[in-house]
Amino acid sequence: MTGGGDVPVALTEPLSLHMRNMTGTNDRSPRCVALQGEVGQCVSCSIYAQRPSPCREFAMSGDNGQVNDACDRARQKYGLPPLFSPHQPVQSESYVIQGASPLSDHVQSAD
Ligand code: SF4
Repeated sequence: MTGGGDVPVALTEPLSLHMRNMTGTNDRSPRCVALQGEVGQCVSCSIYAQRPSPCREFAMSGDNGQVNDACDRARQKYGLPPLFSPHQPVQSESYVIQGASPLSDHVQSAD
């Protein structure tokens, strides 16, 4: 298990008496306040180095050859296909978008 980062409190909201979550992640249509960009186009975490432990522990489907159903469900909500199938172990989506700037070191890529 990895430790969480030093998340800016201003980007969080109370979840319970002793816990907080990223603002927006418990909304009816969840969208973390730290997410920048357009889902399905190009997104990144604006506090990647400081992201909390649940984000650090969440594996993109396909990491280590394992399906992550939660990743697939989150993508499905935005009409996006699963990234990975164990029967076709090549990620089904390219993160390279024509005209986009080069990947920064905090953007996950397929390679
Ligand atoms: S990785 Fe960043 S944008 Fe995604 S939920 Fe965590 S804090 Fe929000």
